[in-house]
Amino acid sequence: MKMANAVVRGFTRVGNNLFVLQLEPQAQPRFRAGQYIEVAFPRPGENWLNRHYSIASPPNAPLLQLYVSGGDDDVAEVWPKLGEPLWIAGEGLGLLSIDAINPERLPVMVSTGTGIAPFLSMLRSKPPARAVLLHGVRHRADLTFSEELSTLPGLRYIPVTSREPAPDGGISGHVQDALASLGLSPESSELLLCGNPQMIRDIAVRLAQFTLHYDRYW
Ligand SMILES: Cc1cc2nc3c(=O)[nH]c(=O)nc-3n(C[C@H](O)[C@H](O)[C@H](O)COP(=O)(O)OP(=O)(O)OC[C@H]3O[C@@H](n4cnc5c(N)ncnc54)[C@H](O)[C@@H]3O)c2cc1C
Repeated sequence: MKMANAVVRGFTRVGNNLFVLQLEPQAQPRFRAGQYIEVAFPRPGENWLNRHYSIASPPNAPLLQLYVSGGDDDVAEVWPKLGEPLWIAGEGLGLLSIDAINPERLPVMVSTGTGIAPFLSMLRSKPPARAVLLHGVRHRADLTFSEELSTLPGLRYIPVTSREPAPDGGISGHVQDALASLGLSPESSELLLCGNPQMIRDIAVRLAQFTLHYDRYW
């Protein structure tokens, strides 16, 4: 049986059913930037809920940051509140890592929605000398980390909005089309993809000549 081993220390609503959570673990889980972790908590009168979440904070940060959207659940309703306990696994999972990229090539990170989380962990822990990050969302208000990302040296941050015009420096439309419009070459860049499975399938078909690394969220 799972026993609570972490406490919710931060619970900030940043959009419609979209939250940044800070968890304080009893013991630091072992993970590499880019990995996800199993999280579980009790729901009143029901079985524990078990889910996977990418870790947005860098390894060794005292608090574990998650970027959570509910899918079909209301996060504010379902998740433990500030000061309440939950369980997190002791080790991260998954192979998404910037170290998998050929060091001669430009890492190009492509995310939708909460799929930006593993790239935040990578950029916050060991920022590469140069990288591109596309973040695809519907509305500008969902570009939660834009201030932090716009100032990272070496990073070309491209916000992409599909339901309203993009902010300055961004691209309006879908992230797949935005990526294709950059004119990247498979000889000099590699793609890291995270989030919506349809985005990942589209890119795998349209840019089949590129080396791809990815995590699907559902
Ligand atoms: C490897 C991995 C890492 C993940 N990391 C995160 C993360 O960092 N943050 C996060 O919020 N979720 C993440 N997820 C998704 C999360 O684990 C759950 O899938 C989600 O909370 C909904 O779960 P569900 O069982 O209700 O239904 P699911 O069957 O998982 O999803 C039901 C529907 O909800 C929608 N949906 C699910 N997840 C999301 C999402 N994140 N954003 C928008 N729509 C969604 C989709 O339309 C999907 O068809 C991750 C999943 C995997 C497999």
